[in-house]
Amino acid sequence: MWNNKIDQTTTAVTCPGCGLSCDDLRIETGNGRLTSMHNGCEQARRFYHSAFDNIDRTPRIDGAPSSLDEAIDKGAELLLQSRSPLFAGLATDVNGMRGILGLADRCGATLDHMNGDAILRNLRVVQDNGWFTTTFTEVRNRADLILLVGSQCIERFPRLVERVIHPAEGLFSGPDDRKLVLLGPWVGSRLPDELAPLNPTLIPIGLEALSDAVAMLRALVAGQPVNTGRLDDNLGDALRGLADELKAAAYSVICWSAAELDIPHSELTILGLAELAKALNRESRSAALPLAGTQGDITCNQVATWQLGYPVRTRLQRGYPEHDPLLNRWQDLIERGENDLLLWIASLSSETTPPSCDVPTIVLGHPGMVFKAPPALYIPVGVPGIDHQGHWYRSDSVCSLPLGKLREIGLPSVGHLINRLHERLRSASGEPVGGAPC
Ligand code: SF4
Repeated sequence: MWNNKIDQTTTAVTCPGCGLSCDDLRIETGNGRLTSMHNGCEQARRFYHSAFDNIDRTPRIDGAPSSLDEAIDKGAELLLQSRSPLFAGLATDVNGMRGILGLADRCGATLDHMNGDAILRNLRVVQDNGWFTTTFTEVRNRADLILLVGSQCIERFPRLVERVIHPAEGLFSGPDDRKLVLLGPWVGSRLPDELAPLNPTLIPIGLEALSDAVAMLRALVAGQPVNTGRLDDNLGDALRGLADELKAAAYSVICWSAAELDIPHSELTILGLAELAKALNRESRSAALPLAGTQGDITCNQVATWQLGYPVRTRLQRGYPEHDPLLNRWQDLIERGENDLLLWIASLSSETTPPSCDVPTIVLGHPGMVFKAPPALYIPVGVPGIDHQGHWYRSDSVCSLPLGKLREIGLPSVGHLINRLHERLRSASGEPVGGAPC
């Protein structure tokens, strides 16, 4: 039922606007609209406004309005016709992802998240070497030196300084005494306002040179003979100074966002950073803090890993999971025309529309989506944390946070729709319906 009479204040709201998942927002709604927000950043404001400003629940089949029942019929028909579907996007909450895996198992689908490239940059390192990571709470309370690699950590995770790097207080290390080093392409970039008071040490370097610099840093920390002279003078000295500071720190943290490191063989740079943290643990304490989680990529991966035993980029066509981080990349699968149906799931942003492709496309998408060409089927879905309750993993993966419900306008969740589709497929194959799909 449409209910536009909700008029309330909700506190301790978890924001799914990025992987930080700040859980201190206070949101006021009235007459079905967002009236005010406290504690959220500008990105959160855009996230909530984009959801509250879009209330059209009408499914569309080839662009023409339909009822939800007709849309479910059409979706089931397309899935039944498909022999090799691709389920991609996968921006949803825990329940949505659980349902997706059950349906994917039945349909023999291949799975990849829209952020698959960034996810795999980190995952390849975990798969090949393992790493030692920390949590936001540990950084807040214990870090005395934080190395931010790249230049987009704050842009992509806007409250990182306030919530993690320089909070109001820390239990075991004073935030004001914390040393901050910025290693990345800062030349010509203006420091974010919140960083300037921390008086950070700046080591400007292009992303393409990062791999060399990290290798040199590792060698310096390990006490190996290193010819820093082959680098620009300032850079060589700066790296030598940074290596000394890392060795002297009681608890250093090395932080990056894999989404920014869109460079050839970036997994080797990330491997170097992870190994640097490991090496520092011989004499002191150090840990990595890989930032991720935006568009539910950590959530998707957590659920896939605990249910399948594999992360995304996994194919279920042979009745068992086949994980291949290279062959199962969604962009390449579409380009190679390997699938005959695309199911695109994107409940968190109106901007994450599906790629254009030659096969029928089902979109379970944010209610504000606008398409260049109408997909075969579009069903607007509720935004997790606004239209329905759920759970969600933040960047450090340690805990799932509860997502609340802020309005009721009849938008179904991804989990609900996927389960309805699954039931139709079961019923078409003569199986009893009604059980949990996964
Ligand atoms: S930093 Fe991220 S999680 Fe926190 S309020 Fe902003 S968008 Fe939301």
